[in-house]
Amino acid sequence: MGLSVGIVGLPNVGKSTTFNALTKAQNAQAQNYPFCTIEPNKAIVPVPDTRLDELAKIVNPERIMHSTIEFVDIAGLVKGASKGEGLGNKFLSNIREAEIVLHIVRCFEDGNITHVEGSIDPIRDIEIIETELVLADIEQLGRKIERLNKEAKANAKGAKEAFALANELLEHLNLGKPASNFADKDSEVFASLNKELRLLSAKEVIYGANVDEDGIAQDNEYVKAVKEYANARNAEVIKLCAKIEEELIGLGDDEAHEMLQSLGAEESGLDNIIRRSFAKLNLISYFTAGVMEVRAWTITKGWKAPKAASVIHNDFERGFIRAEVISYDDFVACGGEARAKEAGKMRLEGKDYVVNDGDVMHFRFNV
Ligand code: GDP
Repeated sequence: MGLSVGIVGLPNVGKSTTFNALTKAQNAQAQNYPFCTIEPNKAIVPVPDTRLDELAKIVNPERIMHSTIEFVDIAGLVKGASKGEGLGNKFLSNIREAEIVLHIVRCFEDGNITHVEGSIDPIRDIEIIETELVLADIEQLGRKIERLNKEAKANAKGAKEAFALANELLEHLNLGKPASNFADKDSEVFASLNKELRLLSAKEVIYGANVDEDGIAQDNEYVKAVKEYANARNAEVIKLCAKIEEELIGLGDDEAHEMLQSLGAEESGLDNIIRRSFAKLNLISYFTAGVMEVRAWTITKGWKAPKAASVIHNDFERGFIRAEVISYDDFVACGGEARAKEAGKMRLEGKDYVVNDGDVMHFRFNV
């Protein structure tokens, strides 16, 4: 769908370990997703959704297909990347393409694994990365301001407003603050500027606090610090132990559950990251439930039925007539489509119907 999550973080914080776990999750399902091309720095992973299992219990399909989400491993950001250090600009342009950022932060101690900055200090680490993003934005915005200045002088439409806002934004960034908390961030002028520039520091961030086994049951001091930092910025923190996550993928559901319980965790941190990322991208799933497959289809919240149908096939949108809709709860409570119909729980919806998360859909079309 072109919506992806970019994984960033300093070296040796657990990015690759996290990304490996995601790749394993992808490969475990690869036979089901032949349409996904496998690229070394991308993982297209199934979004955990227990509702699919409940539907499958009723329908007994040959296979279950989950919604998917794309993670991109953005290698090696170091101090000075905005000035071309490390992978520098290439790294930064990869982030630009991502819709949201998963920032992995080292919250574990281990004398054998060196830290590039010499000590464990997650807030300093976060600030190093975020400073690089702000610096990259300053440079890019500076070039844009020069162009806007010329356009404003030539009285181009909207150029004066954009020029004024861009200068305010530049002042804000020059204070070391990210574009995400710029006062005029919700204005249309900002939106159109950001659509073009795709500012790195404007992206929503999820902090992945990577802990040791001991840190799973109880937050350690590092996690507490990250949570405090994130709270002040309205950002989300999800704790995970990347090493354990890698091991979990190979296990069956029951074994994985047992292992998590023995570590004092209620659920896998990685699953949690996948689900929260999906939600942050404003994505939802509707279902189709047939004997061939029970399947979740990914759409953006707010899409109407014909557009939602197009993710199955373009003809479904082109020739859309109606959608038969049963809510997930009704489908399960009635024990399937036939009985839901009998109970009057199936609705016929037209082209203006806004699809809900969890709708079980059947499209009627004619081309
Ligand atoms: P990256 O440079 O950020 O990609 O970091 P890596 O994922 O390669 O991790 C660096 C080292 O830390 C590797 O040796 C990992 O096995 C180790 N590591 C990752 N997560 C954890 C963890 O939760 N606990 C401990 N003790 N080591 C970890």
